[in-house]
Amino acid sequence: MSVSGLAALIRERQPCVVLTGAGVSTESGIPDFRSPTGLWAKFDPLEYGSIEAFRRDPRKVWSFYKPRVAMLTEAEPNPAHLALAELEQLGFVEALVTQNIDLLHERAGSRQVVEVHGSIRTSTCPGCGRRYELAQVLDLLAHADAPACPSCGWLLKPDVVFFGELLAPAAIDRAYELARRARLLLVVGSALEVYPVAGLPLETIGTGGVLAIVNHGPTGFDSQAVLKIDGSAGEVLPQAAAALRPRRA
Ligand SMILES: [Zn+2]
Repeated sequence: MSVSGLAALIRERQPCVVLTGAGVSTESGIPDFRSPTGLWAKFDPLEYGSIEAFRRDPRKVWSFYKPRVAMLTEAEPNPAHLALAELEQLGFVEALVTQNIDLLHERAGSRQVVEVHGSIRTSTCPGCGRRYELAQVLDLLAHADAPACPSCGWLLKPDVVFFGELLAPAAIDRAYELARRARLLLVVGSALEVYPVAGLPLETIGTGGVLAIVNHGPTGFDSQAVLKIDGSAGEVLPQAAAALRPRRA
């Protein structure tokens, strides 16, 4: 199936909701988690990505997060992010649900973004509950290996969902509501392996919507998708957006 098939689906099956995973950001130079070259091949998630690890040794977790936050901050949105923002501006995307914490959809111009795994936008102090913006956290990290709360001295926790933590309930509720409303759920750069996000396609299909997938490699839902493009989101999505752009006389 072709990009024109994808553009036709987006035009005909409204509202369209997009679900993105790590694959949409790899073209911005951000490593994914689960592939053989991904982050969790190098860092044991139980040692660096779990809430228990953070409670046990937050400094060790920050030794992993500090360079990661720096890298995410320096990364730029790629053509896939920009195309999704354009599709929203054109009225073809109602909202975007993302597993990514990197803020690149927002920086690309997407407005309706549901971040089910949280983001690096803020960090919270486990001691006093104060919340700090990314710029403040970067400021603290410029002078320390881990950011200590200026008010009480505890080490801040990034507001991303760690292993062993529940997803933000408001975000996941909104994601499920969007998936049920969607006549088209467009999955980009996710192998749909991680629940509860991997349950979203069933919500769409269960209410009469259809599923389209743009992903490198197989996903658990390929056989249930009306369209699957095995390819690069940064190439496919700009072509789809171009096909949907109004023609000027
Ligand atoms: Zn504090």
